[in-house]
Amino acid sequence: MAKTDLYEAPDYYLLDELLTDEHKLIRSSVRDWVKKELSPIIEDYAQKAEFPSQLLKGLAEIGAFGPTIPVEYGGAGLDYMSYGIIMQELERGDSGIRSTASVQGSLVMYPIYAYGSEEQRKKYLPKLATGELMGCFGLTEPDHGSNPGGMTTNIKDAGDHYILNGAKMWISNSPFADIAVVWAKDEEGKIRGLIVERGMEGFTTPTTHNKWSLRASATGELVFDHVKVPKENLLPNVAGIKGPLGCLNQARYGIAWGALGAAMDCYDTALRYTKEREQFGRPIAGFQLQQKKLAEMITEITKGQLLVWRLGTLKNENRATPAQISMAKRNSVETAITIAREARQMLGGMGITGEYPIMRHMMNLESVITYEGTHDIHLLITGMDITGLDAFK
Ligand SMILES: Cc1cc2nc3c(=O)[nH]c(=O)nc-3n(C[C@H](O)[C@H](O)[C@H](O)COP(=O)(O)OP(=O)(O)OC[C@H]3O[C@@H](n4cnc5c(N)ncnc54)[C@H](O)[C@@H]3O)c2cc1C
Repeated sequence: MAKTDLYEAPDYYLLDELLTDEHKLIRSSVRDWVKKELSPIIEDYAQKAEFPSQLLKGLAEIGAFGPTIPVEYGGAGLDYMSYGIIMQELERGDSGIRSTASVQGSLVMYPIYAYGSEEQRKKYLPKLATGELMGCFGLTEPDHGSNPGGMTTNIKDAGDHYILNGAKMWISNSPFADIAVVWAKDEEGKIRGLIVERGMEGFTTPTTHNKWSLRASATGELVFDHVKVPKENLLPNVAGIKGPLGCLNQARYGIAWGALGAAMDCYDTALRYTKEREQFGRPIAGFQLQQKKLAEMITEITKGQLLVWRLGTLKNENRATPAQISMAKRNSVETAITIAREARQMLGGMGITGEYPIMRHMMNLESVITYEGTHDIHLLITGMDITGLDAFK
């Protein structure tokens, strides 16, 4: 049975005062949509391990697909603070649904906008913004995850087209995507981006099953067996690892905001539950141990909110560095996963059920802490940034 979503966002330091009226309007429309369309069904879809594809139209309508892409290409032309807010509200609902929007906006629309030709922009972006076309992003390979530069997927020049061979795995949205932005090495060993379309001969997208995390998000492989990709599908304006890393920067920025949404939902749920639940004749929120957990949660959430707000202002000014984005992604996910684990215990036995969103958030966050750069890799990025020494190899 669908449950009522009683979510009230914590704002301990009155950070709303730092947002414009437009930001608040965007937030309330996404929040209303999440409460009405997502919350009532998400638990069921997560339990079934099915992607709720009926949400795609609504996601497009609330502007979740490519919010920062200019209006002339079908985007909403919003600033980065708005983008962060949208991701936070969506992930408050479910990390898997936020992932679908992140991939579409940051990993598919962004590279076509930033690295594509004018023809590619006009052909794909408006349809991606409305959800008429859905996309996925193929970087990770079976043998190259944290080290994507080692990829073996490759293209060979064959006159008016390229021949693409190789395989990608762990690809969000792949089972239903109409197009894939794929990163492959050319004959000189340079990483290039290509738009591969479903239906091209030799291109298949097997679904990945048996996930305990992001169960309401569709994940799969991309397999390329001598796929003929027309030359006009190559992204002309980027070569090298900076292509995919530029996209990841966009997506990681969104995750920095998004993961805090999951944290805020867990905190809000635990606060409400412990004020209502009585043991030993009084609400458990009155016990010191429970208050310690709640106090630490709101402290970490508030610190995270300040960090991403500042990151948003830097991003709007085009001054946010990749290392600053790494720090925020890492901090927000750590905050969220720690809060989810604590909050789950505060609900006792009820915490393991689908009656409450906490266990689902907790399991989802195990993917969020791994994808778009693992927790440890982001730490090494910070380490390299402050010391100038590369500890990766
Ligand atoms: C649900 C889900 C969805 C995903 N969606 C996408 C997608 O849409 N597109 C896409 O391209 N990818 C996607 N990914 C892949 C994701 O980005 C990778 O899983 C991630 O980059 C880690 O790669 P790996 O799993 O191969 O782990 P590995 O790289 O094998 O890492 C394993 C462990 O080793 C550690 N490690 C690796 N190198 C070092 C080092 N130098 N020093 C110290 N420790 C190190 C890592 O931190 C990690 O703890 C997704 C993953 C998941 C789980």
